[in-house]
Amino acid sequence: MSDTAKIEQFQKAVEQDPNDELAQFGLGSALLDAGRAEEAGPCFQRVLAVNSQHSKAHQLLGTVQKLTGHDDLAIQTLTNGYRIAHRKGDLMPMKEMEALLKELGAEVPTVAEKKSGASGAVGDGDFTCRRCGGDGPVLQKAPFKGDLGEVVLASVCNACWQEWVGMGTKVINELRLPMYDPQAQELYDKHMKEFLLID
Ligand SMILES: [Zn+2]
Repeated sequence: MSDTAKIEQFQKAVEQDPNDELAQFGLGSALLDAGRAEEAGPCFQRVLAVNSQHSKAHQLLGTVQKLTGHDDLAIQTLTNGYRIAHRKGDLMPMKEMEALLKELGAEVPTVAEKKSGASGAVGDGDFTCRRCGGDGPVLQKAPFKGDLGEVVLASVCNACWQEWVGMGTKVINELRLPMYDPQAQELYDKHMKEFLLID
């Protein structure tokens, strides 16, 4: 099948169901193969909106962002994707993302070997940040109201939280999220959880 025919087929599928993860991923890949990186980006973003733990979609979105000159975003996507791939044991995407990060002149995140039972309890000095695996300093209080705020307080270190605050602004701008819209708020939370490795 020609590239164009493949693209058309996937386009039909995503028109029917924009949340069809496989079709979006297929469309994005076909567009990227055809040198249409600009158009491929939104496909991978959609895949990640449906399935935030998709490591290969991180790899390809990072590739698109790198190709289109959005190095900052590429580094964020790939750093995150690298952690997710590590956690899931997806070795190929991990390798590819490591190579891309190096090409971008960015640091490859250090991934701690999983310690058994270290899930981030506060109080007796054995806090472990769920994102970086470091032991603090911790936040002084929950950064926002609700259950999610409590989870962040209990298991994310201050440095990682500050990193997210900076990144969250970029997410809002990049996805053009209208924050008064509850659906946008949901998507924002999803990105935050993904960034902070909250399941
Ligand atoms: Zn941390």
